Amino acid sequence: MAKKLEIIQLGNPILRETAAPVAVVEDKSLQNLIKALIQITVQHQGVGIAAPQVSQSLRLMVIASHPTPRYPQAPLLEPTAMINPRLTAQGEAKEKSWEGCLSIPGIRGLVPRYTEIFIEYTNVNNQICHQKLTGFIARIFQHEYDHLNGIVFLDRVENTKEMITELEYRKLFS
Ligand code: ZN
Repeated sequence: MAKKLEIIQLGNPILRETAAPVAVVEDKSLQNLIKALIQITVQHQGVGIAAPQVSQSLRLMVIASHPTPRYPQAPLLEPTAMINPRLTAQGEAKEKSWEGCLSIPGIRGLVPRYTEIFIEYTNVNNQICHQKLTGFIARIFQHEYDHLNGIVFLDRVENTKEMITELEYRKLFS
Protein backbone atom coordinates (compact mmCIF):
# COMPACT_ATOMS: atom_id res chain seq x y z
CA MET A 1 0.00 0.00 0.00
CA ALA A 2 1.22 3.48 -0.82
CA LYS A 3 2.18 5.52 2.21
CA LYS A 4 0.67 8.93 2.90
CA LEU A 5 3.06 11.69 1.99
CA GLU A 6 3.27 15.29 3.09
CA ILE A 7 4.52 17.96 0.68
CA ILE A 8 7.13 20.19 2.29
CA GLN A 9 7.35 23.88 1.43
CA LEU A 10 9.97 26.51 0.68
CA GLY A 11 12.05 27.07 3.81
CA ASN A 12 12.43 23.39 4.57
CA PRO A 13 16.17 22.71 4.17
CA ILE A 14 15.54 19.37 2.41
CA LEU A 15 14.44 21.35 -0.68
CA ARG A 16 17.94 22.84 -0.83
CA GLU A 17 19.88 19.58 -0.64
CA THR A 18 21.46 17.72 -3.55
CA ALA A 19 19.52 14.48 -3.66
CA ALA A 20 21.32 11.12 -3.53
CA PRO A 21 21.19 8.61 -6.42
CA VAL A 22 18.76 5.71 -6.11
CA ALA A 23 20.78 2.52 -5.53
CA VAL A 24 18.29 -0.33 -5.91
CA VAL A 25 15.29 0.22 -8.19
CA GLU A 26 13.55 -3.03 -7.16
CA ASP A 27 13.64 -2.02 -3.48
CA LYS A 28 10.13 -2.43 -2.05
CA SER A 29 10.12 0.88 -0.20
CA LEU A 30 11.30 2.70 -3.35
CA GLN A 31 8.54 1.10 -5.43
CA ASN A 32 6.03 2.18 -2.76
CA LEU A 33 7.42 5.70 -2.82
CA ILE A 34 7.00 5.80 -6.63
CA LYS A 35 3.36 4.71 -6.31
CA ALA A 36 2.75 7.36 -3.66
CA LEU A 37 4.37 10.08 -5.81
CA ILE A 38 2.20 9.17 -8.78
CA GLN A 39 -0.87 9.18 -6.52
CA ILE A 40 -0.02 12.63 -5.15
CA THR A 41 0.54 14.02 -8.69
CA VAL A 42 -2.89 12.81 -9.78
CA GLN A 43 -4.50 14.01 -6.54
CA HIS A 44 -3.17 17.57 -6.97
CA GLN A 45 -3.76 17.53 -10.75
CA GLY A 46 -0.07 18.37 -10.89
CA VAL A 47 2.25 17.98 -13.85
CA GLY A 48 5.14 16.70 -11.79
CA ILE A 49 6.75 16.16 -8.43
CA ALA A 50 10.23 15.34 -7.19
CA ALA A 51 11.01 13.05 -4.24
CA PRO A 52 12.69 15.83 -2.17
CA GLN A 53 9.28 17.58 -2.08
CA VAL A 54 8.04 14.75 0.14
CA SER A 55 11.20 14.80 2.30
CA GLN A 56 12.88 11.94 0.40
CA SER A 57 16.23 13.28 -0.76
CA LEU A 58 16.53 10.86 -3.68
CA ARG A 59 17.08 11.32 -7.43
CA LEU A 60 13.54 10.34 -8.34
CA MET A 61 10.77 12.35 -9.96
CA VAL A 62 7.43 11.96 -11.69
CA ILE A 63 6.38 13.96 -14.70
CA ALA A 64 2.92 14.12 -16.20
CA SER A 65 1.16 16.50 -18.57
CA HIS A 66 -2.34 17.56 -19.42
CA PRO A 67 -3.82 20.64 -21.10
CA THR A 68 -3.94 23.75 -18.88
CA PRO A 69 -5.32 27.25 -19.56
CA ARG A 70 -1.76 28.42 -20.29
CA TYR A 71 -0.89 25.34 -22.35
CA PRO A 72 -4.15 24.31 -24.04
CA GLN A 73 -2.13 22.24 -26.54
CA ALA A 74 -0.16 20.42 -23.83
CA PRO A 75 -0.02 16.71 -24.61
CA LEU A 76 -1.57 14.16 -22.31
CA LEU A 77 1.18 12.15 -20.64
CA GLU A 78 0.38 9.60 -17.95
CA PRO A 79 2.47 10.13 -14.80
CA THR A 80 5.91 8.69 -15.56
CA ALA A 81 8.48 7.93 -12.86
CA MET A 82 12.09 8.78 -13.70
CA ILE A 83 14.87 7.34 -11.55
CA ASN A 84 18.36 8.88 -11.55
CA PRO A 85 17.43 11.17 -14.47
CA ARG A 86 20.11 13.04 -16.41
CA LEU A 87 19.95 15.91 -18.85
CA THR A 88 22.42 14.75 -21.49
CA ALA A 89 22.13 17.57 -24.08
CA GLN A 90 20.04 20.58 -24.94
CA GLY A 91 19.32 22.87 -27.86
CA GLU A 92 20.34 26.51 -27.70
CA ALA A 93 16.87 28.06 -27.60
CA LYS A 94 15.21 29.03 -24.35
CA GLU A 95 11.67 30.23 -23.79
CA LYS A 96 10.11 31.99 -20.81
CA SER A 97 6.83 30.76 -19.42
CA TRP A 98 4.91 30.68 -16.15
CA GLU A 99 5.64 28.02 -13.57
CA GLY A 100 4.29 27.16 -10.18
CA CYS A 101 5.28 24.56 -7.61
CA LEU A 102 3.43 22.46 -5.04
CA SER A 103 6.14 23.46 -2.54
CA ILE A 104 5.67 27.19 -3.22
CA PRO A 105 1.89 27.66 -3.08
CA GLY A 106 0.32 30.91 -4.20
CA ILE A 107 3.19 32.15 -6.39
CA ARG A 108 3.87 31.93 -10.13
CA GLY A 109 6.99 33.07 -11.93
CA LEU A 110 8.24 33.49 -15.50
CA VAL A 111 11.08 31.01 -15.94
CA PRO A 112 13.40 30.60 -18.93
CA ARG A 113 13.91 26.93 -19.94
CA TYR A 114 15.44 25.07 -22.85
CA THR A 115 12.78 24.21 -25.42
CA GLU A 116 14.50 20.99 -26.53
CA ILE A 117 16.40 18.57 -24.31
CA PHE A 118 17.76 15.05 -24.43
CA ILE A 119 17.39 12.97 -21.30
CA GLU A 120 18.26 9.60 -19.86
CA TYR A 121 16.62 7.90 -16.89
CA THR A 122 15.88 4.50 -15.38
CA ASN A 123 12.21 3.49 -15.38
CA VAL A 124 10.29 1.57 -12.69
CA ASN A 125 11.22 -1.71 -14.41
CA ASN A 126 14.93 -0.88 -14.13
CA GLN A 127 15.33 -0.19 -17.86
CA ILE A 128 17.44 2.71 -19.13
CA CYS A 129 15.40 5.07 -21.30
CA HIS A 130 16.57 7.80 -23.66
CA GLN A 131 14.18 10.49 -24.82
CA LYS A 132 13.98 13.82 -26.55
CA LEU A 133 11.59 16.22 -24.84
CA THR A 134 10.28 19.50 -26.22
CA GLY A 135 8.11 22.41 -25.12
CA PHE A 136 5.93 21.99 -22.06
CA ILE A 137 7.18 18.51 -21.17
CA ALA A 138 10.82 19.65 -21.48
CA ARG A 139 9.90 22.48 -19.10
CA ILE A 140 8.37 20.10 -16.55
CA PHE A 141 11.45 17.89 -16.70
CA GLN A 142 13.80 20.84 -16.08
CA HIS A 143 11.66 22.08 -13.16
CA GLU A 144 11.60 18.68 -11.43
CA TYR A 145 15.25 17.96 -12.26
CA ASP A 146 16.19 21.24 -10.54
CA HIS A 147 14.54 19.94 -7.35
CA LEU A 148 17.08 17.08 -7.32
CA ASN A 149 19.83 19.68 -7.19
CA GLY A 150 18.32 21.88 -4.50
CA ILE A 151 17.08 24.50 -6.97
CA VAL A 152 13.54 25.93 -7.05
CA PHE A 153 11.94 27.87 -9.93
CA LEU A 154 12.18 31.17 -8.04
CA ASP A 155 15.99 30.90 -8.33
CA ARG A 156 15.61 31.09 -12.12
CA VAL A 157 13.17 34.02 -12.29
CA GLU A 158 15.18 36.86 -13.82
CA ASN A 159 13.25 39.76 -12.36
CA THR A 160 11.06 39.91 -9.24
CA LYS A 161 8.54 41.78 -11.40
CA GLU A 162 8.05 38.47 -13.19
CA MET A 163 6.59 36.90 -10.04
CA ILE A 164 2.84 37.14 -9.47
CA THR A 165 0.29 35.61 -7.12
CA GLU A 166 -1.82 32.60 -8.06
CA LEU A 167 -4.93 34.80 -7.83
CA GLU A 168 -3.64 37.26 -10.45
CA TYR A 169 -2.30 34.39 -12.57
CA ARG A 170 -5.77 32.90 -12.74
CA LYS A 171 -7.18 36.23 -13.91
CA LEU A 172 -4.61 36.31 -16.72
CA PHE A 173 -5.43 32.86 -18.03
CA SER A 174 -9.13 32.36 -17.28
ZN1 ZN B 1 8.38 22.22 -7.95
